[in-house]
Amino acid sequence: MSAQIILKVLALRHRLRQRDRWTRRQLEEHQRRELRLLREHSYARSPFYGRFHKGLADRPLSDLPILTKETVMEHFDELVTDPTVRLADVEAHLTTLSGGDELFGERYRVASTSGSTGRRGLFLWDPDEWGAVLASYNRSFDWAGVGAGLTRRTRMAVVSSTTPWHQSARVGASVHSPWVPTLRLDSGDPLESIVEGLNGFRPRVLVAYASMAHLLAEEQLAGHLRISPGFVFGSSEVFTEQARRRAEEAWGEKPFEVYAATETAGIASECDLHRGMHLFEDLLITEVVDEKNRPVPPGVYGEKVLVTVLFSRTMPLIRYEMSDSVRPATSPHCPCGRPFALIDGIQGRAEDVLRFAAASGGQVSVQPIVFHRVMDAVPAGGWQVAQGPDGLTVLLSGVREGFADAYLVDSLRRELEAQGALVPPVKVRRVPNIPRTTAGKAPLIKSYVPAAEVLRRKP
Ligand SMILES: [Zn+2]
Repeated sequence: MSAQIILKVLALRHRLRQRDRWTRRQLEEHQRRELRLLREHSYARSPFYGRFHKGLADRPLSDLPILTKETVMEHFDELVTDPTVRLADVEAHLTTLSGGDELFGERYRVASTSGSTGRRGLFLWDPDEWGAVLASYNRSFDWAGVGAGLTRRTRMAVVSSTTPWHQSARVGASVHSPWVPTLRLDSGDPLESIVEGLNGFRPRVLVAYASMAHLLAEEQLAGHLRISPGFVFGSSEVFTEQARRRAEEAWGEKPFEVYAATETAGIASECDLHRGMHLFEDLLITEVVDEKNRPVPPGVYGEKVLVTVLFSRTMPLIRYEMSDSVRPATSPHCPCGRPFALIDGIQGRAEDVLRFAAASGGQVSVQPIVFHRVMDAVPAGGWQVAQGPDGLTVLLSGVREGFADAYLVDSLRRELEAQGALVPPVKVRRVPNIPRTTAGKAPLIKSYVPAAEVLRRKP
C-alpha cells in the first residue's frame, strides 16, 4: 500500500473516531453540509446530473429521482466528473487486473459488481475516495474493538472472493502491508483447503462471507478447524440467527455483522454491544423505503434502500437504489452513545422474495424472514431454498444426526399456509455442499420460476 494512502486512511480514521462522540444534531448538520457539497460538485461537473436533477437543484433529497444501476451504466461517460474517464477504457482496464493494486489512468481504483442480478456495474475511486472506502471498512474493526487496523500487527484472515475485479480483492490488495499480515483465501476453494490454510495461519481476526463463517464454525465444532480468533466478522450475505449462534459456540464470542456493498463500501456495522448495526450516516445517507420509495417506519422491513454516498466525487451516487431489504430498529439508540441510528435486520434482497399461488386466488409474496424462521431451527451447516417450476427444493448440508427431513417439510408447509400460499410440493435433498456462485457466495433463497426460465426448462 502506498504511503500516500496510509496517511490518508490514518487521518480519516482519526476523524471518524471523533464522530462517535457527536450529538445527533452535529451529525445531521454534517450530513446537510456534505450533501450540499456533493450536489454542488455534481451539478458543476457531471453533465448527467445537470439533466437528471434539472429544476430540482434546490429541492430536498426526498424529491430527487431514483438512480438505478442501469441508469448509471447507460450514462456512465456523462455521469463521471472526469471527462477523460470512458466506460470502454475502464472495461478494458478491468480485464488487465491481476490482483495487485493497479490503477486506471494512474489515479483510479476500479471494481465491478458481480452482476448476479442483471447488468454488471463498474465503479471507480480516486485516492481521496479510496481512502474513505478503506477507512469505512476499518471502522467495523474499530467498533468491534479489534484495536488494530493499520498500525498494530494483527493476523487477519479473509475468506471471500479473490477475483481481482471484486472490491474485496481490491481492498485486500490495498491494505496488504507488513502491519497487517493478511491471509486471503478464496471462498470458492474446497472447504478442506480453506480449513488447512486457516489452521496454518492461526488468525486473530476472521472475516468471511456469512455462509462461510457458518461453515467454518461447524468445522471448528467438529474438530477439523482449530483456530481461536478473538473477532469474527460476517459480511455480504444474510447472517442467519443459526450462523451467529454456531459461531459463538465455536469461538466463544458473538460474531459481528458488517453490511457493505461495492458501490458504497461500509454501510453499517455492529458495535461491541450487538444491538444491531449502526448506519455510517456520516459517510452515507441511507433511506430505507417501500416499493413506492416511501420511508418505512421502525420495525418494518423495507423493500430497498436508497443510498447517497456523501464522499463520492468521481461517480456521484445520489439516491442510488439497492434491492436490500433491511429493517430500521424500533429503538434507534444504542447505550454505546454513538449518534448513528441502528438497523436490526437484513433479510436479503428483493429478489429473495418468493411468490406463490394464493389459496384465495391471485398471488402471495413470502418474505425471506419466513424461511429464516423455519430454517434457523434446522441443525445444518448450510441450507438453500430453491423454488422451481415443480415446487420447492430444500438443500441441506452438514445436517447433525437424528434430524428428520419430514419434520422440516411439515414446518415449511405450516409456515407457507399461514402466509396464505397454496403450498407446492416440497422436497428435501441432502448434499455435501451448498453450491456457490462464482463469487463464492451461497445464496439462501433462489427462484427459477420466471416464465422464460420455466419455458426453457420444459422439454
Ligand atoms: Zn452501539
